[in-house]
Amino acid sequence: MLDVIIVGGGPTGFVNALGLAQAGVSVHLIEAEPDIVKSPRAPVYHWSVLEGLDRLGVLDDCLGIGFKKQDYTYLVKKTGESIAYDLTVLEGRVQHPYNMHLGQHLMAGIVRRHLERFSNATVEFGQRFVGLDQDADGVTAHVEGEGGTRQLRAKWVIGADGAGSAVRKSLGLDFEGFTWPERFIATNLYYDFTQYGYARSTLMIDEEYGAIIAQIDRDGLWRCTYMEDASLPEEGVMERLPSFYSKILPHADDYKVDAVSPYRMHQRSAEKYRVGRVVLAGDAAHSTNPTGGLGLTSGLFDSYALIPALASVILEGADDEVLDRYSDARKDAFVNRASPQAARNKQLIYHANGGGQALAEALEMCRRMRDDKEFCFERLMFTKTLETPPLLSSHAA
Ligand SMILES: Cc1cc2nc3c(=O)[nH]c(=O)nc-3n(C[C@H](O)[C@H](O)[C@H](O)COP(=O)(O)OP(=O)(O)OC[C@H]3O[C@@H](n4cnc5c(N)ncnc54)[C@H](O)[C@@H]3O)c2cc1C
Repeated sequence: MLDVIIVGGGPTGFVNALGLAQAGVSVHLIEAEPDIVKSPRAPVYHWSVLEGLDRLGVLDDCLGIGFKKQDYTYLVKKTGESIAYDLTVLEGRVQHPYNMHLGQHLMAGIVRRHLERFSNATVEFGQRFVGLDQDADGVTAHVEGEGGTRQLRAKWVIGADGAGSAVRKSLGLDFEGFTWPERFIATNLYYDFTQYGYARSTLMIDEEYGAIIAQIDRDGLWRCTYMEDASLPEEGVMERLPSFYSKILPHADDYKVDAVSPYRMHQRSAEKYRVGRVVLAGDAAHSTNPTGGLGLTSGLFDSYALIPALASVILEGADDEVLDRYSDARKDAFVNRASPQAARNKQLIYHANGGGQALAEALEMCRRMRDDKEFCFERLMFTKTLETPPLLSSHAA
């Protein structure tokens, strides 16, 4: 019998597959789509997750396509105030003192190529998980593909099938939280922002024209994510786009749109991340609005905690109660730290904190990030607090 079936070939699924295969666990990953999904999503990896990608042996390849980035600017649209800070304060104090920019499908693709070297790992596209049964010895997953429905059997299943997770639903777990009334529009465009003095990550603060603008590749492709009322018809997104660009691009006549994707946004978490022999990771376990880039960050920290814990259960007979601790620790990191911070980030960038005193206080913090190195360092350490220390003492450094 297989050790682990991983449902979902997004970044979380592939990272778990590679980590487990490297440990010697047999894994089979199924992905519903015919290939890795390319819709524009995570471009930013915080410095704190890079150590884990390095341990997996994929960071150099990621940096070979993506790039290191330290510069950030808050731009207050109404006043034109520009507040720049950078990550140089991390130098000499952490292993990777920069963030990385790389489309998440490219990252998943790199991990997939590393996975192909392992004879104990297999990947199938066009295979949709539709249900499961579990007993004391293992899990039977029901999978639909071109040839009809079939059953796959493994000792464990990891649900890494994104926010709409069929694995989570098959466990009957609530996805607790709420959905925002707005729609985010992630656009990829060619436009020379640097010519107009933009940092490679610019956080434009405005209650109407808030936007996150970030360079996402070395050939001049940028991401601009903005927000609109979700009650507007989704099919009108492309018609409304030029009007939005005209408000936020310095010269809105010289851009080329490469991709556009509308998204509903949530702050939600599964009530628990483990039921019997099934474990959830990434967006299948939790979903956040993307402001501040804490979604995949959380999924990667899930994976770094889950891989050694599950490998120990399978290969060394460790007590599977460690998976309950995985569930508790990862839910705590998301619900009590990542999700509230992401909501605060959205409130500042896209709602300007409602203006007045709340905005004035937030901008004072931004200026302090720029002027006070120690304060900046403390703030940059936030994403490190989303990491779960080793769950088994034998894995502690
Ligand atoms: C606009 C935007 C920008 C973002 N920017 C950032 C950022 O900069 N930094 C960051 O950390 N996060 C960011 N995020 C969040 C990030 O995109 C998600 O956290 C990330 O996609 C989660 O990865 P995942 O592998 O868990 O899930 P997904 O990427 O959703 O992958 C799930 C996979 O499972 C497959 N699947 C679904 N159902 C089934 C099924 N029944 N059977 C088999 N396969 C199935 C899907 O096809 C998909 O390939 C952003 C999100 C958005 C929308």
